[in-house]
Amino acid sequence: MARDYYEVLGVERSAGEEEIKKAYRKLAMKYHPDRNPGDAEAEQKFKEAAEAYDVLRDPEKRAQYDRFGHVGGAGGGFGSTEDIFAHFSDIFGDLFGFAAAGGGMRPMAGADLRYNLSISFTQAANGDEIKLSLPKHVDCPECKGSGAAAGSSPETCRHCGGTGQIRRSQGFFQLAMPCSACHGTGQIITKPCPKCKGEGTVETIREIVVRVPAGVDTGTRLRVRGEGESGIHGGPPGDLYVVLHVEQSKQYRRQGQDLIYTCEISFVKAALGCRVEVPGLKEPLPLEIPKGIQSGTLLRLAGEGMPYPGRTQRGDLLVEVRVLTPTKLTERQEELLREFETYEQEEGPLDKAKDFVKNIFKKEKK
Ligand SMILES: [Zn+2]
Ligand SMILES: [Zn+2]
Repeated sequence: MARDYYEVLGVERSAGEEEIKKAYRKLAMKYHPDRNPGDAEAEQKFKEAAEAYDVLRDPEKRAQYDRFGHVGGAGGGFGSTEDIFAHFSDIFGDLFGFAAAGGGMRPMAGADLRYNLSISFTQAANGDEIKLSLPKHVDCPECKGSGAAAGSSPETCRHCGGTGQIRRSQGFFQLAMPCSACHGTGQIITKPCPKCKGEGTVETIREIVVRVPAGVDTGTRLRVRGEGESGIHGGPPGDLYVVLHVEQSKQYRRQGQDLIYTCEISFVKAALGCRVEVPGLKEPLPLEIPKGIQSGTLLRLAGEGMPYPGRTQRGDLLVEVRVLTPTKLTERQEELLREFETYEQEEGPLDKAKDFVKNIFKKEKK
């Protein structure tokens, strides 16, 4: 049994247009599905009020109803709450457009951007300032981001009533999905801005200087605040993340902030000890190689490695000594080595043998 429409809205039969609208708003708020999820009775009341309002707001239908009542056929029920949102978009647009759950008008932070940047080993070791040119979406200057052509403005989406969401009932559950008609924004642009084709944003090239601190490594992320995409509806912009790829050094192998340099010396120098120069990051570094060193030994030059980003400390430079065996010998050299070998066998390998080699080379130089 259908209730009297005036009774449903709680207004006098003489009520004016504004009063009827106000009464309906109140009921729609009270029984709105967002506020009464899964409540079948509230849904019923919500539909009933919508039906009553649909008739009483229309002078023709209202007159018909006044004369003939429900029998006159002025009213027609709504199948779903979705239909109601679509039908009364003017009401729900301003009523719920902003406050509704998931409403498209809420301020949203802009998206973060990721930029992959390759830098040389030297840039990583010394730090650098690098200018990036990156495409970025900014509010369209023509329409100030509204997406609507000059002289027009976006209209509340009729499909979702401006909430940006479509509700579907499945058993006891209410599912809210982004409205497909307005892509969840709650607004429809009828006359799109010619510059941005209704997107509200345009792509520009922005130049940004990124400070790369000394000592960075592959995978280091540098955050540049506020250089991401613009916010939506007044939300803050996102951040830009610059993800670094550091090219490998031709000279060093890198282990964190330590660097490894391979220094090749002859077996004679390994036996006798020597002084070498190894390339440091800033300048050549002298290094004493003790006599009798074995191939593969690591010598440490403390604090001569990569800087720790943002700190004064540095890693170490490790010198890996590689002893080279000669592949070509002159007859004389071979003769001397054979003689050396006999000493090694007779008198034990180490000290005597080194002295012998030292003497030979003194003689050879002369
Ligand atoms: Zn919509
Ligand atoms: Zn535009």
